[in-house]
Amino acid sequence: MNAYELIKKKRDGLRLSKKEIGLLINGFVNGQIPDFQMTAFLMAVYFKGMSARECVNLTLAMADTGDRVDLSAIQGFKLDKHSTGGVGDKTTLVLAPLVAASGGIVAKMTGRELGHTGGTVDKLESIPGIQVELSKNKFTKIVNNIHVSVIAQTASLAPADRKIYALRNATATVDSIPLVASSIMSKKLATGADGIVLDVKTGRGAFTPSYEEALHLATTMVDIGEGAGLRMAAWITSMEQPLGRAVGNAIEVIEAIDTLRGSGPQDLVDLIMELGSDMLLMSGIVSSRKKAKSKIAENLVNQKGLNRLVEMIAAQGGNPSAVDDSELLPQPKAKIEVKSETSGYVSGLNALEVGLASKILGAGRTKKDDIIDYSVGIYLKKKIGDKVKVGDPLAVFDSDGNEKKIGPAKKKFLAAYTFSSNKIDPPKLIHARVTRDGVEEW
Ligand code: URA
Repeated sequence: MNAYELIKKKRDGLRLSKKEIGLLINGFVNGQIPDFQMTAFLMAVYFKGMSARECVNLTLAMADTGDRVDLSAIQGFKLDKHSTGGVGDKTTLVLAPLVAASGGIVAKMTGRELGHTGGTVDKLESIPGIQVELSKNKFTKIVNNIHVSVIAQTASLAPADRKIYALRNATATVDSIPLVASSIMSKKLATGADGIVLDVKTGRGAFTPSYEEALHLATTMVDIGEGAGLRMAAWITSMEQPLGRAVGNAIEVIEAIDTLRGSGPQDLVDLIMELGSDMLLMSGIVSSRKKAKSKIAENLVNQKGLNRLVEMIAAQGGNPSAVDDSELLPQPKAKIEVKSETSGYVSGLNALEVGLASKILGAGRTKKDDIIDYSVGIYLKKKIGDKVKVGDPLAVFDSDGNEKKIGPAKKKFLAAYTFSSNKIDPPKLIHARVTRDGVEEW
């Protein structure tokens, strides 16, 4: 079959075989199938969808266009974790060392900043000296020694995804669940883990704002991973407001360190307990969620998780003293209080707007090669449910002192808040857990 016939088949809602999907993906990457045909195919998928089997085959075909990281040199069950992107989402910085300190093996390759959300690699890079672009040998050596390493994904992982994403971005086909799921999972499969815990965000700051979309994405990714022979668990969690209080890069590293010291924000701790428990359960280290939680809580209290972060920073060439002395992290030139112009209870704190405000301050990129200012960000003093009076600080901006950024960032930030005269409960953080056995409401 040629590309024309395959496009027509999908346009008519028929299923493609593994071989047919492989022909399309490889043909596109080799340059035999031109952009216009691939675009037509993507649009056909957008409208007609894909079966679970087609999604697995698409993901495998994409993963196979590049290097597959062979983690077999690392002894034991290798874990990965992925979030679909949230504002203030510093979960990996806490979870990876904490799970390692609890007996798991975390070998994670991760991305840079995407849109309004920060990337873990960017946050890590605010630690002086840390290397996130390590050779495979160095990466596996570190994971073998200390059971945790978090590094940047290389361009050689699933190159088909980058090429296809560029087309999707230009042709209104990004928000198709089979395409998003195969894009994320192709990179995950290529990194060679045995089990993956996914955090699929829902709410106004999320890639999939509605619960139904998030559930569809979570289920599709779980099916893809399980279909490819991995153990999977996906959580659907709220991104109605930012996670924790810190939004930025160095500022999020500080909040992650505080969390590993046992004084983190409750929402972040709650999330880490559930995600971390799944990672320990998957690895077979514990026999129940209760035991998993108590192991994780123990390693928060005794600071073994924090010590493991120190070891990871040192192993990756960073300055581990930054954990005890936050002044060694990039410092903002000015701290600016942003005050409330309204009284009442905070009824909404739009995570998307907060992420965009932080980006205006310099914490994120508008273009791929923009340089991030690691020192800037937002520390939230008021979140949903908090009582506020006019003049109370809503947040502190860490900034470079440039009024051209501070003014627009303040405007964007203040627009994130809504107030009510009635008391409001904070939004539910954890909605559901999805595994091969089905969906559990949480
Ligand atoms: N993140 C990805 O890696 N791919 C998508 O398609 C969307 C979000």
